[in-house]
Amino acid sequence: MLKDTPKHQGKRNQLIDILAQKGITDTKVLEAMKHIPRHLFMDSTFEDHAYQDKAFPIAAGQTISQPFTVAFQTQLLEVKPTDKILEIGTGSGYQCALLVALGAKVFSIERQLELFKKTNLFLPKIGLKPKKLIFGDGYKGLPDEAPFDSIIVTAGAPFIPKALLGQLKIGGRLVIPVGDDPQIMTLLVRTDTKKFEKTTFGEFRFVPMLQNKN
Ligand code: SAH
Repeated sequence: MLKDTPKHQGKRNQLIDILAQKGITDTKVLEAMKHIPRHLFMDSTFEDHAYQDKAFPIAAGQTISQPFTVAFQTQLLEVKPTDKILEIGTGSGYQCALLVALGAKVFSIERQLELFKKTNLFLPKIGLKPKKLIFGDGYKGLPDEAPFDSIIVTAGAPFIPKALLGQLKIGGRLVIPVGDDPQIMTLLVRTDTKKFEKTTFGEFRFVPMLQNKN
């Protein structure tokens, strides 16, 4: 069932070359992506599309993000091997698996029960196990495990949730796509208890980060 063949690996290498051509420069991110079998995160119906640089439908009306977007957000996180990272929007688990492959301790929150259950079973099977997947509301973050070295939001946020800013370490990074459609990729670095330095990186498209629907 969970097969990763030389043919998959070949297509994956081609995809990684394309990401580099599109401007991803962090070699650790590119190298780690070479080892993540993206086709296994998708419905087998779409397997042939797994190594195109495109987002694709997963369960519960959600999507697995475009590989360029995953690489771009991960690059902005500047992951170090011991980092404690919170992800909002587990979805297929692809982004989560990449962070695990980079050596981080990952906590990831998903509000769709179906996806939470599916991904919770799947990730250990491919040997990329996060610290913990949580079924819950990402707007609240994860106060019990805070503070984090970084927080990544993989759904379009209508605004920057205050709780997430408060759960960053000093020097910590929040990468979040903000706005309706499209979203503006935004990086906030916590430079002091109450100070955040903000940088923006252009337009991206995500499924919405939903509120009050648990
Ligand atoms: N990181 C995922 C991308 C999934 S799309 C991947 O690599 O596949 C975004 C995900 O965010 C969806 O699964 C959606 O259900 C989830 N989501 C939306 N609003 C949320 C919220 N308030 N809290 C947690 N997850 C949320």
